[in-house]
Amino acid sequence: MKKLSSNEIRKMWVDFFQAKEHHFLAPVSLIPVEDPSLLWINSGVATLKPYFDGRKTPPSPRLTNSQKAIRTNDIENVGVTARHQTLFEMLGNFSIGDYFKKEAIEFGWELLTSKDWFDLDPEKLYITVFNEDEEAYKIWTEIIGIKPDHIFPGGRDTNFWDVGQGPCGPNTEIFYDRGVKWDPQNLGTKLLSEDIENDRYIEIWNIVFSQFNNDGNNNYTELPRKNIDTGAGLERIVSIFQDTPTNFETDIFFPTIKAIEKLTKHNFQYSIENYDNPNPKQTRINTAFKVIADHIRAISFAIADGVFPGNKDRGYIIRRLIRRSSIYGKELGINNAFLYQLVDEVIKSMGEFYPYLMNKKPIIVETIKNEENKFLQTLSKGYELLEEMIQKEGKVSAANAMLLFESFGFPIEQTIELAQNSQVAVDLEGFNNLLNQAKDKARNARKEVQAWDKQNELFTKMDVKSKFTGWEELTHKNAKIIFMFVDEKEVEELTDTTGYLILDQTPFYAEKGGQAADHGIIQGLKGVGTVDDVQQGPQGQNIHRVTVEGTLSINDLVDASVDKNKRVYTMKNHSGTHMVHSALRAVLGDLVMQSGSYNDEHGLRMDFTFNRNITPEELHQTQVLVNQKIKEAIKREVHFVSMQEAVEKHHALAFFAEKYDEIVRVVQFGDFSSELCGGTHVDSTSDIEDFVITGIESKGSGLFRIKCLTSFVGVQNYYDEIWNEQLATAQINMDKYEQLKPIQSSPKIEKMFNEIKHFKMTRDNVQELKILGQEFQLEVYLFEKQVALKNTNAKLNAYKNLKPSLNDQGVNQIKINANDLNMQELKILADELRNTFDDVIVILLSESDQGNFIVVAVSEKLQGQYPAIEVFKNMPGIRTKGGGNHNLAQGKFEK
Ligand code: ATP
Ligand code: MG
Repeated sequence: MKKLSSNEIRKMWVDFFQAKEHHFLAPVSLIPVEDPSLLWINSGVATLKPYFDGRKTPPSPRLTNSQKAIRTNDIENVGVTARHQTLFEMLGNFSIGDYFKKEAIEFGWELLTSKDWFDLDPEKLYITVFNEDEEAYKIWTEIIGIKPDHIFPGGRDTNFWDVGQGPCGPNTEIFYDRGVKWDPQNLGTKLLSEDIENDRYIEIWNIVFSQFNNDGNNNYTELPRKNIDTGAGLERIVSIFQDTPTNFETDIFFPTIKAIEKLTKHNFQYSIENYDNPNPKQTRINTAFKVIADHIRAISFAIADGVFPGNKDRGYIIRRLIRRSSIYGKELGINNAFLYQLVDEVIKSMGEFYPYLMNKKPIIVETIKNEENKFLQTLSKGYELLEEMIQKEGKVSAANAMLLFESFGFPIEQTIELAQNSQVAVDLEGFNNLLNQAKDKARNARKEVQAWDKQNELFTKMDVKSKFTGWEELTHKNAKIIFMFVDEKEVEELTDTTGYLILDQTPFYAEKGGQAADHGIIQGLKGVGTVDDVQQGPQGQNIHRVTVEGTLSINDLVDASVDKNKRVYTMKNHSGTHMVHSALRAVLGDLVMQSGSYNDEHGLRMDFTFNRNITPEELHQTQVLVNQKIKEAIKREVHFVSMQEAVEKHHALAFFAEKYDEIVRVVQFGDFSSELCGGTHVDSTSDIEDFVITGIESKGSGLFRIKCLTSFVGVQNYYDEIWNEQLATAQINMDKYEQLKPIQSSPKIEKMFNEIKHFKMTRDNVQELKILGQEFQLEVYLFEKQVALKNTNAKLNAYKNLKPSLNDQGVNQIKINANDLNMQELKILADELRNTFDDVIVILLSESDQGNFIVVAVSEKLQGQYPAIEVFKNMPGIRTKGGGNHNLAQGKFEK
């Protein structure tokens, strides 16, 4: 076996496929872009969906990558099986409508077995194919020469890739035989043919033949363009080369495990021999080492990509991983925060391929340390809680085990062990049921979103070239219509209808990079089209949606004119987005990382990650800074340069490992702001005119959304609106007061209203005005209450001297009509009368335009014999409707 490091193996993979004319794609963020169906990037192909369904044309029909991926449903496997991690790297090669089964299999076999490449022993490789895929079986046996005892047919569950609607197809898997040592019952290839979970035959590679389209109802048709999607786990291949019992003794994880040993002060050792001579106690210790080494790597990468611990979604996963690691640390006798000290090891083993990790080290370390310390505090509460459950209930119910698992991060084994120490049982079966329910729920919540788009045949063939001229001009005369379609069908003309068209040159901006599409007019000789949307086609062509009056035909020469007003205000907002991004970074620090934005003619919003809450003072500083930069009238520059020059010379913000040889567009405002951007921008910051932050919301897990407005008109309207709103609310309150004034007046209220009316609102005292408005509202409210109370007291006084008389049953009763009282007042009076006498039935009726109300109240002494609700129901001469109890009943009545 060749001696290769993990970095060499990854490189050899990429070199091999580059030698076979594959284009290398750098790894992308773990956070999926525009894909609500996924919480995390969980495979190499997950980053390539737009290429597979035809929305975008790839840089080459042959692609290769090594992509970090997270699979949360493997978390519980980590440290238990030899081959699962939470975060792993998937090596891939892809064909987008280029080669298919034969080449895909040949490439795989050559890389794995050729002396020049991996040089693995072919005898140790085993194959599975889909049992209906005769073509693949033939290629393996007849062309590659795999012997029948090395290839096994598999069913739909193992050898067919299908996620509902979208592309799908059979797959073929390659396994490596690690020998009988990992097969204690010596079952041999039965493990493969019967798909039994095992650590002998390790699946290293899966090649999917994306061949059919599933319409969503399991009706399968052949895809117009067939694709290849493969995935091979880097860690597993490394483990084979380095001949380790599991993925964890490789150069990827073992240095971390060694570092953990140090943190235990060498009180605990990881034991490789334990795989030959297992001892249950040592197995647990090994597991703890493996889990921690796995989790710290996943946590570090996730934080580097802008995920912070939180209460939901990705943030929650990271929180759980930190908590689990902390608990496993305790198993190794480490009781303080320690995880953050392992970040260095992660960077050492991963930094060569992921150089940006190094820049992120401070934030990774700080975030982990904070979260660990917070958890250690809640953890002691968890122990107390468990102790209490044991004492009180003498068992640990499924629900409580789940509580400890979810809220305190207790692995179930830990709960069981602590319970066992007190000779108390845990409802393990119930716990497993709850866990499965929770998993199903999470899975279904995602399934409702469509995972893949159907392949669009028209887009896979759309290769016309179109040039965007809208950076320099807003109107382009004599542009030529070069492509038209309606309902995914190419057409020759559009007459009095809505359809899509592409021009050879167009000033219309297509929605992208957060900037809204241009609107406008396309004027032909025989018709005019109104453009209300522009989107990018598969090769970056701008596709205009037009509603045509008259006729526009293919090859027509037309004048394309962008709606200037919309574009100009959109530009102010797009430049404003760059300014607020830089200003936030200046005020809060480099941890601010933009994760999305949207700007159109109405305003702008920007999403970003940051690791703590932002104070009003910091927001104010941000706003002041942007306005200062607007005043400085900084000229906008645009540079088309290599990625390297963009970063080194122009200090453009580049968050991920973008490719260094690519030519990029840099939009720069002096030394204040420099970003990679394809959008349209103002000439000078002074053209932004004005700027205000109108709101910020936290979306949890360290994700924030800030909303802002630009331009004189936009900002002035914003302040005018606040002013009008405050004045209108104050006026409503004042009207309420005016109505009561004849009864009672309040100089304070009149003075406050005057103050609001004559308030000189400026940008810096908006908050003061709002507080004044709130105080005024409160004052009027209290005044109303006071007047109402006075009024009620006056009315009730008239009834205070009522005396009971005996009713037909010889019981004390007060029954009167009090038509001037409302329901609330009837209740107060009834209550008072009932308490004045210790044995009385009180019946109060009120007839007015508002309705006929009745309240019955009974003194405590009589409630047994004459419950109020019974008296209420059986009123002679009237029909009552309402409810109550033995104490008091109320409602309406009819005669
Ligand atoms: P397994 O059955 O072993 O979990 P899988 O069928 O889930 O594998 P695929 O979805 O086919 O795997 O992924 C392609 C490749 O990615 C696998 O062949 C394997 O090498 C690797 N892989 C998958 N899951 C993991 C994981 N949790 N940790 C490490 N590597 C993995
Ligand atoms: Mg799996």
